[in-house]
Amino acid sequence: MARQVGGRDALGYTKQDQKNYNYSKRQKEQKCGEVGSLFKYFQKQRKENPSFYYAVQLDASKLITNIFWADAQMIVDYKLFGDVVSFDTTYKTNKEYRPLAMFVRFNHHRESVIFGAALLYDETIDTFQWLFEAFFEAMSGKKPNTIFTEQDPATAKAISLVMPNTYHRLCKWHLMQNALKGVNHLLRGMTTTQLSESINSYLKDYLQSGYDIVKFFIHFERLLDAKCYKELKGEYNLRQKLPKVKIASPMLIQAAHIYTPKLFLKFQEQYEEFQGAFVKERVERNATHEYIVSIYGKPKDHRVIWNPFEKIVSCSCRKFERIGILCSHAFKILDVMDIKVLPEKYILKRWTKDAKNEIVQDFNGRDIKADTKLEVTTRYKFLGPMYVKLIALASECEEAYELALGSYNELSKKIDDILRKKSNLYQVDINQENSSDEMITISAKSLKKKQGCKGRHRIKSCLEQPKKKKKGSIHQPIQTNQCL
Ligand SMILES: [Zn+2]
Repeated sequence: MARQVGGRDALGYTKQDQKNYNYSKRQKEQKCGEVGSLFKYFQKQRKENPSFYYAVQLDASKLITNIFWADAQMIVDYKLFGDVVSFDTTYKTNKEYRPLAMFVRFNHHRESVIFGAALLYDETIDTFQWLFEAFFEAMSGKKPNTIFTEQDPATAKAISLVMPNTYHRLCKWHLMQNALKGVNHLLRGMTTTQLSESINSYLKDYLQSGYDIVKFFIHFERLLDAKCYKELKGEYNLRQKLPKVKIASPMLIQAAHIYTPKLFLKFQEQYEEFQGAFVKERVERNATHEYIVSIYGKPKDHRVIWNPFEKIVSCSCRKFERIGILCSHAFKILDVMDIKVLPEKYILKRWTKDAKNEIVQDFNGRDIKADTKLEVTTRYKFLGPMYVKLIALASECEEAYELALGSYNELSKKIDDILRKKSNLYQVDINQENSSDEMITISAKSLKKKQGCKGRHRIKSCLEQPKKKKKGSIHQPIQTNQCL
């Protein structure tokens, strides 16, 4: 906030004042049984999907300070696409609102996905440390290769403590957005990526109004549903038709089948550029070959190394290391070597149509089940307009009408059979499963020191007491992935 308006001094109040303000606001927020409602909300989520994760940090007076959560979809997405993460706390708008922090990055459609979210009481090293530990507990210990953040010493310190082997970079995106003096860059940033304008304003309005926490979660859930629906639609569309291939080369046709449409376009751009590539210099030793590759009309040359034994190509532009697709310079050398099909090692699964064909385990080692509720809605939304269109056409003439009628009876019978079979299987499943009424635990992972509240009388409701505490954190080996 201070950064956006030209320094803290210019605001006319100190950081401590802000904390005091937030503390008294928090007391007000929690006095009406909100804590109870919040836990009920979390319990409901976990009952619907046991892979839902949440953690709450309490202060010395057992008041909620920080809240972190990740639903099943976020955990799956992080497992598949969390090699690079952007961490953002700039979603708060001004002093009246609790900062909303998010872990985000791209899925295989190159659209932003949320890996986890938190409502924070403050932005101290302690808070970030707690948050990162909770995040990795939810994600079974998997650390990202690279994390992008805005420039903030507290975040940087917490990163060095919790994920010392993760490469920490400042995000141009953040720097750019801060320079825009905007209020809520997540919302604006997403306008250009994947969130519809209406959802943006929906959440934005909500964040900017005096909210109660439970309502916030309900709104947030709707936002996630909308994102998920859009992704399912994307998945459906990409299986319907292949993108247009500009050059009839085996590699490009192969890429059109493998990659998601957005990635294919990026791949194709590089492939087109390679048409203007030529080798300027070459040194072909036994162990490695070295080429200087130039692109016609482009000033900068690049050095490409080819290892003929391992069939590894690497370029000084480091496009593959950064983005995960080969560059025009590497294509040139593969072509010189007469390699016409993209080698397996240069196809990253995370950019392919099959990126999500993987079973992911949650923090308890359970296979995560998809959001079946949403899938049903999505199928319904797809089929509805298709069949309405078909009915309109079939009604045009007697012959088409008879055909539609006959097919309807046949189709109904087949669908009935499928559902009957499924329901028998389901009965068996239910009998085999244990009771789902498991004990819900509240992860009050650590107690936070009370800050800036001397001499104040706190307002405490009978619902504030947490029911159960869960201790501990997970420290698992760091998993390294391709940097994207
Ligand atoms: Zn290159």
